[in-house]
Amino acid sequence: MTALAAVSPLLPRAARAALPEASSAERVRFKLRPFDLAAIRLQPGPVLEALETNRRYLMGLDPDRLLHMFRVTAGLPSHAEPLGGWEAPDNELRGHFSGHYLSACALLAAQTGDSGVRERGVHLAAELAKCQDAIGTGYLSAFPVDLFDRLRAGQPAWAPFYTLHKIMAGLFDTATLSADRGSLDTLARMAAWVERWVEPLDAQEMARVLEREYGGMNEVLYNLSAYTGQARWAALAQRFNKERVFAPLAAGRDELQGLHVNTTIPQVIGAARGYELGGSAQLHDAATFFWHTVAERRCYCTGGTSNGESWNTPPGILAHELSGYTEESCVTYNLQKLTRHLYAWTGDARLGDYYERAFYNGILGVQHPADGDKLYYLPLAGGYWKLFGTPLHDFWCCTGSMAEAFAKLGDSIYFHDDTDLYVNLFVPSELTWAERGVRVTLDTRFPEEETLRISVHAPEPKRLALKIRVPWWTAGAGAELNGQPLAVSASPGGYLRVERTWHANDALTVRLPMRLHAAPMPDDPSIKALMYGPLVLAARLGKEGLTPENVRAPPTRPRRIPEYTAEAVPVAPLTVRSQDPESFLRPVDGRPLEFRTRGQQEDLTLIPLNRLFDERYAVYFKVIET
Ligand SMILES: [Zn+2]
Repeated sequence: MTALAAVSPLLPRAARAALPEASSAERVRFKLRPFDLAAIRLQPGPVLEALETNRRYLMGLDPDRLLHMFRVTAGLPSHAEPLGGWEAPDNELRGHFSGHYLSACALLAAQTGDSGVRERGVHLAAELAKCQDAIGTGYLSAFPVDLFDRLRAGQPAWAPFYTLHKIMAGLFDTATLSADRGSLDTLARMAAWVERWVEPLDAQEMARVLEREYGGMNEVLYNLSAYTGQARWAALAQRFNKERVFAPLAAGRDELQGLHVNTTIPQVIGAARGYELGGSAQLHDAATFFWHTVAERRCYCTGGTSNGESWNTPPGILAHELSGYTEESCVTYNLQKLTRHLYAWTGDARLGDYYERAFYNGILGVQHPADGDKLYYLPLAGGYWKLFGTPLHDFWCCTGSMAEAFAKLGDSIYFHDDTDLYVNLFVPSELTWAERGVRVTLDTRFPEEETLRISVHAPEPKRLALKIRVPWWTAGAGAELNGQPLAVSASPGGYLRVERTWHANDALTVRLPMRLHAAPMPDDPSIKALMYGPLVLAARLGKEGLTPENVRAPPTRPRRIPEYTAEAVPVAPLTVRSQDPESFLRPVDGRPLEFRTRGQQEDLTLIPLNRLFDERYAVYFKVIET
């Protein structure tokens, strides 16, 4: 383990040797540590296919088009055709996607070892540095600095620091994951520009600036501080800590009603990172309370939250929060990031449960398998469909967040402490734990099957404890070693621990029995979704009224969200004799993870929500017992 790893356990450290050593130390003791993406290779299956779809999407984009408005802003020649949607020349968020793109390339290169993807990101970063040089102040953006003048003056400006954060985070990822020294220099110059911009503002003026969405400015500056050992960046990060939001959270009060969700979560990720560096109890308590109130009282069964991008109700009130605009994808992505911090602090398996819920239901199904386009909202009111955009004419915030999410699908499968290996997600993969000199393979078709086959490979017999998360949805988890039942047991919410000296050809088999179950709304149990294991099921409602023109959102004009151009269809209640879904749903022979209702006026077929595309569906039903 390198010195840097001790400093920044939550940051990947691929090839960090090329970069300066950090000198600051984190104040927090981590219970678990994640592995670098580079230590994990996905094995064939739907998750790897999704990653490959994203790779084709990313590599299909033209860097000169991504750079166009940066070059124009810097006064450099550019003859590329401008992009559309939120990257269009008249959009105030332009440039945000290039930041995400840098992150996505760096993550994907680490996840796969693909040097072409790495080079794409490093090339883009180098071209951005030329734009920064041409401007000469450290400022780097695809829009002129006037937007920041307007922000300072309290005049309308969409979200300049939000966009800047994406670019800074992209440079940070390129510096750390792709070991690109130039990106670190570009980032430091941007940070110095921000420092000068912020410096004259008093606390009141800064509080007003922070009322505009600013992404995770605090997070990226804390990261830069941890990475370079320079305290000035942590001091600057603190200026982006939003007291108005953090104070009630730290006091255990949910005052989130009325807030814009994806404005808030990245701020709290910054709080979590600030706690790791400085040990502040307030930041710790704010992040911890926030996670629990959001994940446990404000999320749908999918692990997503937000309706019309906001929290509109007190906690636990969700039954009337179903629409075509639920669950912004950025939100799920950012809540997963926050979860990963808290999971590392605590090792609490319930956090792993949340991560899995969001992974299968909020992430995997929001990329179109045909072209890698990404979803903005995941509609949870019945009768809608997944409204993907038009490639090259959307570039919504979620297009960017999901380009990152699908670049690192191997993340958070494994964690470790000083002695034990934790298996958190059941995705076919291979882990190389270099410090321990072992390679671990996880072979499974989960969730199509409920069996995991885990092998530990080492040059000689190796003592090692495996801790497999026992998910909330299973009952009676069991294990066999080389065909013999093991006397181990664990309940949902805990870990199944197998410690032994592993020999070549030892095969551990873990069974996590799955069943059908219901996910009722907290404030109206008669409204419920149906689940199988970790999977939210969606009833297929056909394509009636959907045409090539309205199944996808038309090219998005500046500042516009995707809008449905056809109506939702009504969804009939389910009438049942017993609330137990096993009594009114049965599996379809020969079609894994497919179910059919029985006893309804019109019976329905249900499949995992993450496999349903270009078709109307229903997730939540009114269920009437007769
Ligand atoms: Zn978004």
